[in-house]
Amino acid sequence: MDQPPTDDPHGFRRRGVLFVLSSPSGAGKSTIARKLLADEPELVMSVSATTRPIRPGEVDGRDYRFVDLDRFRQMVADHEFIEWAHVFGHRYGTPKAPVEAELAAGRDVLFDIDWQGAQQLFQIAGGDVVRVFVLPPSMEELHDRLRKRATDTDAVIDARMARAAAEVSHWDGYDYVLVNDAVETCFAGVKTILAAERLKRSRQTGIIGFIRKLTR
Ligand code: 5GP
Repeated sequence: MDQPPTDDPHGFRRRGVLFVLSSPSGAGKSTIARKLLADEPELVMSVSATTRPIRPGEVDGRDYRFVDLDRFRQMVADHEFIEWAHVFGHRYGTPKAPVEAELAAGRDVLFDIDWQGAQQLFQIAGGDVVRVFVLPPSMEELHDRLRKRATDTDAVIDARMARAAAEVSHWDGYDYVLVNDAVETCFAGVKTILAAERLKRSRQTGIIGFIRKLTR
């Protein structure tokens, strides 16, 4: 990936982090993602394309790019996605160009994608990817949260609950696993992970030059 510009006083450059946040629907991931974006000006959200119908309150281009199946297939054929997968009977994919542009501009990118997406992204971008999985405190609590959200029908909620158990079974494909007992605590954990990952030596690509000057 391109080297971002630097305004660090020591000339350090930093490799961008591809920060993946996954969880079963209703575990609180969207709230955490929203808070993280509000708090972190150098972090931008990857907006996925999907064939699923738009929900009340969603905005095309902000929450997703809502496309029909033909358009999605064309995007796959044109290699426009970094990764894509079938989720709940619909297709979801991460467009490649915006991610490359943000990384080149020196920003980190946040991905709300499922375990299949996390796996594919890791295969492609390896060491630049940080995968965080957020668990609900219990399946009962998850069911409650989905019902309170009131955006889905009972049938959809049942399908999401069935799917949640399958999602959770992929916990070991992640670098960090957090339980969302209380959103503020979980959010603090996610922020700490991002801060530490940004400081990793492998991401501080200008450090060798600095050390040479320091020890000259
Ligand atoms: P929802 O329909 O509730 O917005 O999302 C359903 C699931 O699809 C969530 O688990 C979400 O993380 C996942 N998802 C959203 N966008 C993408 C994507 O671009 N790729 C993959 N693999 N999963 C996605």
